[in-house]
Amino acid sequence: MLSRDEIRKKKKYIVEKLKTKVDALEEEKLKSTLISFIILESYNDKLKNIKLFNLLEKISNGAILEKSTQKFRGMWDDLKINYSSYIDNDYVSFLLQLANNLSQIQVQYDEDETELLPFNFSNEYVIKLSKLFYKELGDKYIEDKAMAILNDESHYGFTKTVLVGNELDYGMTIYDTVFNKPYITCQKLGNLMELQAFNHEIMHGIDFYSMPKIPSQIYYGFHEIPTYTIDYLFHDYLDNMGIDKQQVKALRRKKLQYTKLTASRVLFQIQHRLNEKFGMKNTVNATIQDIKSVITDDLLKEMLEMESCVIADGLYNQILIDKELGLKNLKMIMEHPLPRDKIPDFSFIGLDNNSLLNLSQNIMISSAENNQKNNMLQEKQLQMIRRLINKDSNKLAFIKSSFLIIIIVLFAILIAVLMIKNGGVI
Ligand SMILES: [Zn+2]
Repeated sequence: MLSRDEIRKKKKYIVEKLKTKVDALEEEKLKSTLISFIILESYNDKLKNIKLFNLLEKISNGAILEKSTQKFRGMWDDLKINYSSYIDNDYVSFLLQLANNLSQIQVQYDEDETELLPFNFSNEYVIKLSKLFYKELGDKYIEDKAMAILNDESHYGFTKTVLVGNELDYGMTIYDTVFNKPYITCQKLGNLMELQAFNHEIMHGIDFYSMPKIPSQIYYGFHEIPTYTIDYLFHDYLDNMGIDKQQVKALRRKKLQYTKLTASRVLFQIQHRLNEKFGMKNTVNATIQDIKSVITDDLLKEMLEMESCVIADGLYNQILIDKELGLKNLKMIMEHPLPRDKIPDFSFIGLDNNSLLNLSQNIMISSAENNQKNNMLQEKQLQMIRRLINKDSNKLAFIKSSFLIIIIVLFAILIAVLMIKNGGVI
């Protein structure tokens, strides 16, 4: 991980660069990277006075952090304006149905199920396991990028102390789009979640190396699709590694609970904002247009994260059924972010909105046995993608053969013309 001095040097370079004349895209890259470095600094274990800072923060009831971040808040707000993505009534209504389905997920507990038990993993073990996972995933493209990150320790670090308010971020990846490098910080959680969190953040890094995503250039909010897909696969990997099955189950359950919680939070926030804007009584008759009017960029981002959970579940099932095709679709997501001015449409990977709604009704703890229902759905979608691909190649074959026939006919006409001209002799 970068030392405090290295972070300071980079920050200084960016601040100087911002004083010169730069275009809008460059400015966005510089500002977002600067903010990323400020966040990274606050997470850095080398920040020796973090315990004291956290204590003062508690005593002052948040006033210190408030003051220290005020300076950058204006900058952050400037950037946020560029994140706005296009939504219409149909998309809002789709997201609402999704939230509704996901908020009703039944999180079932087995009798012998346990909570996550404390366990101390050495950093070496966490890194080694992630290396093995990406190696055994069996995709050269993903593996190469994973190794580029995992074999270079300047990419990542572990931390025992986190800043007040950041406790729930098990891990964090910041993107340096100026010098083109992701930086990962993972909390020493002392249980199985630590392995998942580190492996998850590595995938954020792989996604960045596939193609740096500049928020103003993409439909911002789908960055968890590749990482959630990897989380689901990682659970199965832990099972195969012989890790206590009940502990892995507890990890899966946490994921499911998180999905349910995100959906419930979305619904709650919409309700709350409608109440504020239109009053309790009128909220009952709120139209989709009214709901759309209370969806801010922040709330949309949360709704997209919720959609990402379902898309990742779809991709995970595709990989279980047809590994090559599923991974190809995953890479497609990483390399071709959606445009900001169009409604997101994932039918190009076999996951149109109807399929996502179906999936959201059947979402369960992801595992090979539990996903039989999903598998049946997915098999149908995969058949559809295969048909589409075949259709395209048939079309191509048809075009190729037609082209050949035209050439032969033209050649025959040319010969005939020449023969007539020369009285039958060429
Ligand atoms: Zn993430």
